[in-house]
Amino acid sequence: MASRPERQPEKAGITMANYLDDNPDLQYYLEQGIDWDPLVRLTEQYFTLDGGFESTEEAVGFYKDIINLVADFAANEIAPRSKDIDRLGLRFESGKVLFPEPLNEIFEQIKALELHGACIPRELGGMNCPLMLYYINAELIARADVSVMAHHSFHGGIAAALLMYSILEGTTEYRTDPPGIAKTRFANEIAEIIRGDAWGSMDITEPNAGSDMAALRCTGEVDDEGRWFLTGQKILITSGHGKYHLVVARTEKTDAADDFAGLKGLSLFLAPIHGTAADGTRVDYASVDNLESKLGHHGSATVSISYERTPAHLIGKRGDGFKQMLLLMNTARIGVGFESLGLCEAAWRMAKAYAAERPSMGKTIDRHEMIADYLDEMENDIKGIRALAMYAAFHEEMAQKLQFNLLLSPPDDPDDRAAMERSRRRHQKRSRAVTPLLKYHAAEKAVEMARRAIQILGGGGYTTDYGAEKLLRDAIVFPIYEGTSQIQALMAMKDNLMEIVKDPKGFLAKSARAHKLALSGRDPLERQVARLRASCCRVLQHLMTRIVAAKFKEVRQVPITDWPRAFTRGWDPKRDFSIAMLHAERLTRMLADTAVAEALLEQARHDASRRPILANHLERATPRVAFLAEVISTTGDTLLKELAKTDKT
Ligand SMILES: Cc1cc2nc3c(=O)[nH]c(=O)nc-3n(C[C@H](O)[C@H](O)[C@H](O)COP(=O)(O)OP(=O)(O)OC[C@H]3O[C@@H](n4cnc5c(N)ncnc54)[C@H](O)[C@@H]3O)c2cc1C
Repeated sequence: MASRPERQPEKAGITMANYLDDNPDLQYYLEQGIDWDPLVRLTEQYFTLDGGFESTEEAVGFYKDIINLVADFAANEIAPRSKDIDRLGLRFESGKVLFPEPLNEIFEQIKALELHGACIPRELGGMNCPLMLYYINAELIARADVSVMAHHSFHGGIAAALLMYSILEGTTEYRTDPPGIAKTRFANEIAEIIRGDAWGSMDITEPNAGSDMAALRCTGEVDDEGRWFLTGQKILITSGHGKYHLVVARTEKTDAADDFAGLKGLSLFLAPIHGTAADGTRVDYASVDNLESKLGHHGSATVSISYERTPAHLIGKRGDGFKQMLLLMNTARIGVGFESLGLCEAAWRMAKAYAAERPSMGKTIDRHEMIADYLDEMENDIKGIRALAMYAAFHEEMAQKLQFNLLLSPPDDPDDRAAMERSRRRHQKRSRAVTPLLKYHAAEKAVEMARRAIQILGGGGYTTDYGAEKLLRDAIVFPIYEGTSQIQALMAMKDNLMEIVKDPKGFLAKSARAHKLALSGRDPLERQVARLRASCCRVLQHLMTRIVAAKFKEVRQVPITDWPRAFTRGWDPKRDFSIAMLHAERLTRMLADTAVAEALLEQARHDASRRPILANHLERATPRVAFLAEVISTTGDTLLKELAKTDKT
């Protein structure tokens, strides 16, 4: 009788030596896929920093050493503890969250390795590595255990966010000799966090406001002496049992009809939820009410918190809270892309190893066509997600670093300044375009791959023996937190339609270029990639035409003299864009497939060894995109009519 393969060595505690050594695709990025030079130059301030590196090669060598160390640590220290962490979970006693011993051991080691400060400037006690290193480490740690990565991210991630907010609000001072940060508003908090003595959280969600941030009710009030206090409840807060809370709260009334409505009334605060009294005892300023019992992520605490006139520090300007939170969220969403990638790697490798040993009907199951197809698609999808993730991470970091440079040490020459600003905008535009696509695509793929791993392991996948079911339990939150998949889709759809509204000629030119390239590009792969882009443009044009046609129909009811006003001003996003909202997720899938293809094409232009990855992606993506385009163009009217009817009643 056919036997089941042994449990996976990774999961059984006999660990792989290193998560980098077994991953040629990741190695490709470290060696050539990442354009390190501009990143290093900005990170090292053009090699002028005290105690800094003298060349890109030297800096990248150091980054690779750290990544290698983390790859080793993830495989040999985190992965073997993952099953126990999942089984033991966290405990909640007298308002305190208690970690199981294996999780404490991991965080003691992370502290000893000083990884929390990896991307913080040297003058603030960190290692001054680029954010790119943090993202790559996120993939490696998530491959071992996603929940460990989730908690880890609320250390360095919050420290970096505090520095970013201080730079943006103008409370960070830069010195030129030696170059570096002279003073920054949250220096003490940053130091405490990177030492591993504290961590932070991002408190947005409330009982009645999740995706709909405009409905937040937690309030910030200021007294006569300018001191701020927060009151309200936050729920589902990751690592919310920590000290430093970035809280979005309502400070302004911006809607005449509703005190608790609108995004412009929100502000951002830093609230330490405990401190130390003069006699050394702990003082609590807010209470952690509850530790959620969850399907997965058992090493990551998700808590509810009550604020009751909790002292807080306003960050930036009143009313800018939503805008500021989005800055942190963009970085976090790219982080979810890398976390998802790590989980995909774990799922694919588990399934592949099992399938190579499990015999069925005369051969191992990896030789059966359907399973071979599953595994091949998973492997190729992972390479596509990594290409998109690296692209997003690079452009986001370049945009951020250029902005910090412009604020802290702008070039003297106005032409240089203008060039730097143009470059910043270019990078930001690219990051903004792909971030929701990455978050959507990587999160959804992680769920799909974890489910496939279970399927490939058959009955064994459904048991807890191998850990495949844990991967699915862990993955299923990716499409929910940091903005659900539907919210990512709405953002992608809105940005793409707004681009047409703002610059219709530019859109038509882009569309014409894609159509031309699809026919006349010299390289067949380039022609296929252009065909995907042309399909996206056609679908966008179709949606825009439908929206405008519906609006014209309505505008025709008013006197001709009112047409310009009725057409330009009378837009109701909920009603007028319903066709686009209905298809936003399908459009996002098309855009994500296209963005992956474009990122892989760029790599293939410089390195022929990347061509088969692109060819494989195109073979699968081309019919998928055509199908989605067909669905968008031909379906939805019946449902929209039904919705319109019930909306009116
Ligand atoms: C493990 C975990 C950790 C979390 N960590 C944090 C954290 O650290 N900080 C924090 O602030 N929050 C956190 N959250 C909360 C998370 O961000 C929210 O759950 C998420 O934003 C969705 O909000 P909601 O749960 O209220 O769902 P809802 O907003 O009620 O959404 C329910 C469903 O409706 C869909 N939906 C909502 N509006 C629309 C629309 N306009 N169009 C189409 N579909 C729509 C959603 O996509 C979703 O599928 C965490 C959640 C979990 C599960």
